[in-house]
Amino acid sequence: MADASADDSVEKGRAERHAARMARKKAHIDAAIAAADAERGLLLVITGNGKGKSTAAFGMAARALGHGMKVGVVQFIKNRTDTGEEAFLGQHAEWHVTGDGFTWDTQNRAQDIATAERGWAIAARMLADPSYRLVVLDELTYLLSYGYLDSDLVLDALAHRPAMQHVAVTGRAAPAALVELADTVSEIADVKHAFRGGVKAQAGIDL
Ligand code: ATP
Ligand code: MG
Repeated sequence: MADASADDSVEKGRAERHAARMARKKAHIDAAIAAADAERGLLLVITGNGKGKSTAAFGMAARALGHGMKVGVVQFIKNRTDTGEEAFLGQHAEWHVTGDGFTWDTQNRAQDIATAERGWAIAARMLADPSYRLVVLDELTYLLSYGYLDSDLVLDALAHRPAMQHVAVTGRAAPAALVELADTVSEIADVKHAFRGGVKAQAGIDL
């Protein structure tokens, strides 16, 4: 039938255009992959108001541990030590929970600053030690935005860490200077969260 053969040729033309488009795309991607040949430690910042910042960092910790890398984790602000990530990944990573809880719980700025400085001392030790291949600084952004830590001191330690060491920083409202220093920055948007639907924090999802 005439109609069927017209359909066939339309389909053939479409397939050929698709193949040509994919070939151009592949050449483009192959060239970009060939150009990205540097290898070094990366500074990642995972920020934004949506859920998934800390879990993204812990996902990287799992990856690094899978490659036999030494991983250090410092959790700021939060004080719970009953999380699934600590129970599981803490068997292989060096894990420090250094917070006193949320600022609206502690209500004591001097105490928050002293706690931040104690946590930072652990982080600074890791950032000076090349045997740590990945350091996770969970919720560090708050210590900068609340002014609990000297921003220049923190940025300097991050900038001068060992060349092959990766660092992942999490927390909302990452300061501009931290974003500037970072290699990879992801901002997670808050589209919906079960908490606003009245669901309490769930083991396996939130802790
Ligand atoms: P997660 O640890 O689940 O990856 P996160 O690091 O992105 O979350 P945080 O600001 O550290 O987020 O908050 C941790 C806790 O608060 C988790 O229980 C998380 O589900 C919850 N949470 C995160 N974002 C929101 C939000 N937009 N609204 C309500 N609760 C949130
Ligand atoms: Mg978090």
